Amino acid sequence: MAVEREKIYECEVKRRRVKVGGGYEPFWKVKTVAEALVDADTEFRCKDCGGAVKLMGRNAKTGTTPYVEHKLPADSEFCLGGMLFKKATDGREAKASAHPVE
Ligand SMILES: [Zn+2]
Repeated sequence: MAVEREKIYECEVKRRRVKVGGGYEPFWKVKTVAEALVDADTEFRCKDCGGAVKLMGRNAKTGTTPYVEHKLPADSEFCLGGMLFKKATDGREAKASAHPVE
């Protein structure tokens, strides 16, 4: 039996921008995982809960789309985009990760 996997095709990546008054400041930008790989981004997090994610399918065969999944099952259980959250039938509310990536 195939194990169902979480597949999230959009993520947030950490970028830097010029700050008003000088210097740079980090910010998170939403993009597709495929785009992030093309742009060689290295820092990722979930766009819905801010939790840590694992990058999957980076070296995938042509025709497959790279994606991310939550590192922590606890994030997936309460994330708007989480597989476990979507499956939950107890009417729970989504919330941000207890361990967000800063
Ligand atoms: Zn999430």
